[in-house]
Amino acid sequence: MRKYVIMGVQGSGKGTQSQLLAADLDLVHISVGDIFRWNVQNHTKMGAMVRRIMAAGELVGDDLVESVVRERLTQHDWNFGFIIDGFPRNRPQAEFFLESYDINGVIVLDLPDSEVRRRVLNRRVCPGCGINYNLIDSSPKVPGQCDSCGGELVTREDDTEGALAVRLRDYHEKTNPVIELFRRKEYVFMVDARPAPEVIQEQIRNCLGLPPCKHGAEVA
Ligand code: AMP
Repeated sequence: MRKYVIMGVQGSGKGTQSQLLAADLDLVHISVGDIFRWNVQNHTKMGAMVRRIMAAGELVGDDLVESVVRERLTQHDWNFGFIIDGFPRNRPQAEFFLESYDINGVIVLDLPDSEVRRRVLNRRVCPGCGINYNLIDSSPKVPGQCDSCGGELVTREDDTEGALAVRLRDYHEKTNPVIELFRRKEYVFMVDARPAPEVIQEQIRNCLGLPPCKHGAEVA
């Protein structure tokens, strides 16, 4: 059973790296941001509660986040383990998590703020299948259209200059102390998030003492 946390500022590739690891090791990928986005898209009560907070780049309240994580993990569909992405993001969330679960490793994707801005402001997403594109180095074959399902690509509501500034501030103020907390428990592996996705994946595997990717890192 493998239980990992992946952390990193927006645009550092947490989703892509989690999916690669999860697909190869049969882990369940749990993205708190994806759970909230699903609720917003499907107009649920929770979606209505978080929509404006997310669009502004702010953090959703700890009680709601913790209940979402608790509920997701109590489904126990993670026979081989899980990789949780985007959580914990502050000290209370980290303390809640450490009280309830043993973890095997925390991967921190390290990216300078200037590169974060370049990536996030050029990010486009397919609402249908969730694939992320970047107009600089991974643009779709047909502009504005998903290579996989043909869906119309959109900009995430929180990928704006204003929301990004809030998210970067929160990351440095609230999430960096979480990394320090985990570091004291010797769980943390810092990985440079600037190289190509497949190179980052190999670095993650080296750090975690895992074998190379079985199917090769196929990145959309
Ligand atoms: P992400 O996809 O991880 O960038 O998350 C998108 C948005 O969901 C964040 O900007 C927050 O508004 C919310 N969110 C996701 N995870 C958390 C968390 N652990 N704590 C608070 N808010 C979160």
